[in-house]
Amino acid sequence: MSAQIIDGKAISATIRAEIKVEVEAMKAQYNKVPGLATVLVSDRKDSQTYVRMKKKACAEVGIASFGHELPTSISQAELLKVVQELNANPDVHGILVQLPLPDHLDEEEILGAVSLEKDVDGFHPLNIGRLSMKRREPLFVPCTPRGCIELLDRTGVQIEGKRAVVLGRSNIVGLPVAMLLLHRNATLTICHSRTKNLPEVVREADILITAVGRAEMVRGDWVKPGVVVIDVGTNAVDDPADNRGYHLVGDVAFNEVKEVASAITPVPGGVGPMTIAMLLRNTLDGAKRTSG
Ligand code: NDP
Repeated sequence: MSAQIIDGKAISATIRAEIKVEVEAMKAQYNKVPGLATVLVSDRKDSQTYVRMKKKACAEVGIASFGHELPTSISQAELLKVVQELNANPDVHGILVQLPLPDHLDEEEILGAVSLEKDVDGFHPLNIGRLSMKRREPLFVPCTPRGCIELLDRTGVQIEGKRAVVLGRSNIVGLPVAMLLLHRNATLTICHSRTKNLPEVVREADILITAVGRAEMVRGDWVKPGVVVIDVGTNAVDDPADNRGYHLVGDVAFNEVKEVASAITPVPGGVGPMTIAMLLRNTLDGAKRTSG
């Protein structure tokens, strides 16, 4: 039997509608709206597109956005000053520094300078540290990992006690999503490029989250019947028939795995739309902490 397709687009639309209602309530009660500052130091087209999408999503739910588009020649000291000004601005409840930064800038120092209370990307070392510790709560959870857990919750998938396998250990996706699964009492295995007998390990999973960046790596015979699959991978594959010259696929061979799994996210239309929804949610959460 074919798996349930987890519709990230529909779930993200529901979440955005919920956020919009909460933003309106905040405006009515406190005469304030959440504010998100975006800091872009890049002439990369993809980074520019991501920032534009984030601002548009803010506008749709009534969140104010403050765009800072800075020259790629900016110095470390100048960029730190921008971050510090945003830290001090009471209308800004979230600061998003679009990554990657140009090579001459020290990304770790810049991310560490973002106020913990405004770290809506959840990349501040203290937030990541708290995420990794027992009985500690970070102020913010990184957006894509939070989106993965939200997809499981809204699909009614129980996490506690399940065997969860995460493919990938990046700071942005693999590691934080693994920590979230552990917080939710899954029994966890994290795999990476040095893992031996990968299909064998993957076959143990009741819940499989893939964040590798390798097109359709996970095949139908790698997974256990009934597994729930969240595919974060977003890989461009050449496709002369597509007017862009490529199409996107996940880390999972969707057509094969959907015949074995009980539920699976598609690519595109699965995890992707959740990332921005969780950014909006984090910004609203940040604003709520300062309400009253
Ligand atoms: P990284 O390149 O930072 O990390 C990839 C991870 O996969 C690493 O831990 C690496 O292991 C592991 N890996 C690489 N090759 C293999 C292999 N053959 N077998 C097992 N593990 C392997 O990627 P990101 O985490 O940033 O992104 C992963 C994917 O998710 C990408 O396709 C990206 O585009 C997508 N993505 C999607 C988002 C969304 O909103 N939908 C957001 C962010 C990312 P090692 O640590 O040993 O090198």
